Amino acid sequence: MPIILEEEAERKWGAQTCLDQLQEEAGELVAAISHYRRGREGAAEELIEELADVAITLSYGFHILGREKVEKKRAEKLIRLCERLGIGEKGNRDETPAGE
Ligand SMILES: [Mg+2]
Repeated sequence: MPIILEEEAERKWGAQTCLDQLQEEAGELVAAISHYRRGREGAAEELIEELADVAITLSYGFHILGREKVEKKRAEKLIRLCERLGIGEKGNRDETPAGE
C-alpha cells in the first residue's frame, strides 16, 4: 500500500497542526511575494522555497477537508476562469476583445 504523505502528516501531527502549518506557510508566501516585488536580494530563491512549502502543505488541506470537495470546487472555478479568459471547451480562444 503506497504511503500517502498527507495521511501520515495528519496521523503524526493531527489535523489542527497540519492546518496550522498550511496557514504559516501561506503567510510566509505572502511575505516572500512582498520581498520579491521590492527586489530584495535572494527573494527569488525565497519565493521558490515558499511556493514549494505551500504546495506541500496545500495537500494537507485537501486531505483534511476532503480532496473530492476541494477538487469539485477547483473544477468549478477553473471553468469560470476559462470563461473569463475566453478559452472554449476545446481549448480554443475566443479572440473577441472584452466588451464587444
Ligand atoms: Mg516556509
